Parts: sequence; C-alpha cells; structure tokens
Amino acid sequence: MSFTPNEHHSIVVPARSTASIIGLTNSIRTTLGVGPLDQIDIGHVLEVDLPQLLDAYSFEVRDFEEMPNAEGFTLFDQSTIILRQDVYEALQRGENRARFTTAHEIGHLLLRHNMIHGLARAPKPKDTPVYKWSEWQANTFAGTLLLPLSLARHAGNPASASLLAGMSDIAAKVTMSHYEKGGLL
Ligand SMILES: [Zn+2]
Repeated sequence: MSFTPNEHHSIVVPARSTASIIGLTNSIRTTLGVGPLDQIDIGHVLEVDLPQLLDAYSFEVRDFEEMPNAEGFTLFDQSTIILRQDVYEALQRGENRARFTTAHEIGHLLLRHNMIHGLARAPKPKDTPVYKWSEWQANTFAGTLLLPLSLARHAGNPASASLLAGMSDIAAKVTMSHYEKGGLL
C-alpha cells in the first residue's frame, strides 16, 4: 500500500491567531501535567497520552518506501498520526527534528484541520494571511508546545531555549519571535 501524502501542501483553514494557538498549547501542557519549565516528552504524548485523551485515535509507523516524501502525516478521517520509521526511531532517540515533526502532526490533529481537509489545496495566493495556512498553524503549535513562554523566559535566548526545550535553534528563535511580537517576551 502506498500513500500520496499531502503534507507539503498547505491548505486554507479558519484563521487562528498566534495567541489562540499559544492558549491551546498551554492548556495541553497543563492537562498533561507538564511543568512550566519541563521538556515535554512528545513520544509519550503520541503513544500514551493521546490514546487516553481522544476517542478513535491511533498511531502508526510506516516504512520509508511507503512515504519517501513525508516524515509524517495525519489521516484525518481516522484520527491517525503516521510517522515514517526513521522519524519514529529518531523520536525515540530524542532528536530535535523528529520531536518537532511529531508535535507538528499532533497540531494538525488537535487544530482540527480535518474539518476543512481538502477544501482549498491550491497554491497559496499572495494575499492570504499566513495565519490561515495549515502548515503555519501546525508549526506554531509545535513551536509553542515544545517551548512555552515560561520556558522561553527562563532560557532567555534561542540557543539556551533549544537545549532546554529539545528543539532546533531555528525553531526556538521563530517561537521566541512569536512571543516577542505578542509583547510577551
Ligand atoms: Zn503539516
């Protein structure tokens, strides 16, 4: 069985402000009992927490040959997150990129991008604001889930934040810029 992953094709979704995504990721961390300065265990969220929190959720690992062009994606109809084998193994080793990819897929699921899946999978028009694009929303979700404001403040700079949060320097920098633009940091 092979897939035609659409992971790299952003779709137009209902607008989500940075603030509303921050609110969502904060509430998820609180619900899961992750402390304000703790590094979130994304593998545990994926395999232990989400099955307890969501009905009809499942998680699968697929071979590289089945999805050579996507590290992960979400089958919305079944609430299924799929990670490629090498990404899953990297996640188990705690590698930053795999942690972000996993958090990104969890974002698609919890931001309910399924409701509008396939609605407008066209090239992004120049005048469409970024906050209406599914990939921007899922990346913002992943960044703020991994690096909450509390941890960003504690870290003080992207290099330190990346180490504490378990994410790349670039992802930490982008996430901290969201907090700065919102006047939070
Ligand atoms: Zn995506």
